[in-house]
Amino acid sequence: TVTVFGSCNMDLVVYVPVAPRRGETVHGRAFRTVPGGKGANQAIAAAKAGAATRFVGAVGEDGFGEQIRDTLAGTGVDTAGLRTVGGNSGTAHIVVDDEGDNSIVVVAGANAAVDRVDGKAEELIASSSCLLMQLETPVEGVREAAETAAAHGVRVVLTPAPAEPLSDSLLSKVDLLVPNEHEAAVLTGKEDPELAADALLDSVGEVVITLGDRGVLYGNRAGERLRVPAFPVRAVDTTAAGDTFVGAFGAALAGEESVERALREGSAAAALSIGREGASSSMPSAAEIGEFLER
Ligand code: ADP
Repeated sequence: TVTVFGSCNMDLVVYVPVAPRRGETVHGRAFRTVPGGKGANQAIAAAKAGAATRFVGAVGEDGFGEQIRDTLAGTGVDTAGLRTVGGNSGTAHIVVDDEGDNSIVVVAGANAAVDRVDGKAEELIASSSCLLMQLETPVEGVREAAETAAAHGVRVVLTPAPAEPLSDSLLSKVDLLVPNEHEAAVLTGKEDPELAADALLDSVGEVVITLGDRGVLYGNRAGERLRVPAFPVRAVDTTAAGDTFVGAFGAALAGEESVERALREGSAAAALSIGREGASSSMPSAAEIGEFLER
C-alpha cells in the first residue's frame, strides 16, 4: 500500500497567442481546468500503476475541492485522508502562450492546512509500506509525516520539489530522496549528478536523480550505482513526468519489486505519459507499463 502525503490543486490553464504584459488585457484562445498538484499527481500515477493508494491532504469548500476529490476517487485513490477545510482549494493559474512558454501563479489555499499529522493520517501512514511526499505543503507537516512513517518502519520517499534547503531532522527520517537534476544541484551546489548523488548520500540512504531524457541515476550508501536510460519516445507533453515516475516507482517498491525493476517501471510509466497529451489523464495503467517493458 502506498500513502501519498501532500498537495493537490486545480490547475486553471489559459492558452493565449502572446501573454499579457503588465496592465494589458488580451483575448485567450481557450481555458481548461485540470486537477493537479504534485501530491495528487503522484497518487494518481501510483494507483494507475496498480498499487492500493491513499491520499492525505486537504481541499477547500469550493467546487474545485469536489472535482479534485472526484478525480482522485475516480482513479481508485482512497480519499479517506483528504480533509475539506474552510476557504479555497489550492490553485495554479497557468498562462501558456503559442511558443509553449508558460507563467504560473500558485496559491496554496487548503494545502496550507496540511501542516500536521492528525489521527486519521497517522493510521493511514502507519499501515502502508511506502510513503510518498513532496514539498508543496508546509515542511512541518512533511517532517511529522516522515517521523510517523519512520516510527512504523514505513519507507519514506521524498521528492524535494520545489527545491529548498532541508533540515537534518527531516533528512534523517527520509529513506530515499528523488530530486530531478535541477533540484539535486540546488540541494548540493553540484551540477554533476554523480557528485550530487555522493553529496546527498551523506544525508540519506538512497537517492534517485531523474535526468529527463537521459534517464535516472540511482545510488545507495552501500556504494551501489545504477543507471537506467530513458525509453526513447516522441515527447508530446512532459507535464508531470517526474510525478509519474515517482508514483509508478513507489507502487513497484510497495509491491516488493527490486529497486532496479522499480526504476524501470517508473521510467516506462513516465515515457508512456510523455508520449500523450495531458498530465494525470495520460498516466499509464499497470497493464500498459507491463506491455511496454516486454516489447
Ligand atoms: P521532472 O519532470 O521532475 O523535471 P524529469 O524531467 O527528470 O523530471 O523526468 C522524470 C523521468 O521521466 C526521467 O527520469 C525519465 O525516466 C522520464 N523522461 C523525462 N523526459 C523524457 C523524455 N523526453 N523521453 C523519455 N523519458 C523521459
